[in-house]
Amino acid sequence: MSAEIIDGKATAKLVRDDVADGVAELVAAGGTAPGLATVLIGDDPASEVYIRNKRRACTAAGMTDLHQHLPGDADQETAAALIDRLAADPAVSGILLQLPVPVHLDPDALLARIPADKDVDGLTTANAGLLAQGRPGLRPCTPSGVMVLFDRHGVELEGAEAVVVGRSVLVGKPMAQLLLERNATVTLCHSRTRDLAEVCRRAEVLVVAAGIPGLIGPDHVRPGGTVIDVGIHREAGGLCGDVDSAVSEVAGRLTPVPGGVGPMTIAMLLANTLTAARRLQGMGER
Ligand code: NAD
Repeated sequence: MSAEIIDGKATAKLVRDDVADGVAELVAAGGTAPGLATVLIGDDPASEVYIRNKRRACTAAGMTDLHQHLPGDADQETAAALIDRLAADPAVSGILLQLPVPVHLDPDALLARIPADKDVDGLTTANAGLLAQGRPGLRPCTPSGVMVLFDRHGVELEGAEAVVVGRSVLVGKPMAQLLLERNATVTLCHSRTRDLAEVCRRAEVLVVAAGIPGLIGPDHVRPGGTVIDVGIHREAGGLCGDVDSAVSEVAGRLTPVPGGVGPMTIAMLLANTLTAARRLQGMGER
């Protein structure tokens, strides 16, 4: 039997439509359209593509595109001054520093200048701390997009055995914390986990973010379990994830690559930007 495919593209469209409605409501209520300041330093082609997609999605949702571009040889002071200016600008609801930055720059020092209430990527120490304490804050986009996939596809999390593969600050660690927040029993695996297949097989919900193509095969999957593939790799045959395609014969539900988690990340960036704008304008949550 083949797994049911969790359609991230369709779910992301629903989220983007909800955000567009929220933007219209905010403006109708006398507020200002959210402004998203993406910051690109240098000309990395992959980053340019990501930024272009984010900017397009931002304007399609009725938000104001406040994109900023610095040359690749910009120094730390120049980059810091730009972020400080955006932090102080009331037209800016969200600031997104596109990573990686050129090697001569210190990304952590730049991220630290983004105020927590404009940190729409959810990557600052303040927002990571709020998440760790289970308090409201802006959450990282990729793991919060996975949570929306669970909710919109009726995946039960309360008391479920959840296994996360990968412990990065960007994906794995916040993913585990979000699952814990929803009362799953969470195991976090990483490169030194002794028997990965054995641990993964316990999972009713398995989220894979290791960055290794095909790492997870049918032997890693509990029959009927839900498998979320966060990995993205550009191979000769096109895009693929961390999960081998043969897993679809064992899993109950599975996200494809492309068209699974990827589209959710941008949708959640928009959702975070709307949340930030509402809070900054004192318009509360919907
Ligand atoms: P990362 O390299 O920062 O972290 C990888 C994690 O995997 C590490 O914690 C490491 O301990 C763990 N790991 C490595 N080898 C392992 C192994 N053999 N067994 C178990 N764990 C192992 O990567 P990241 O930033 O978390 O990204 C992971 C993947 O997700 C990448 O392919 C990345 O491109 C993709 N990604 C996709 C999106 C999206 O929007 N879909 C967003 C972010 C990242």
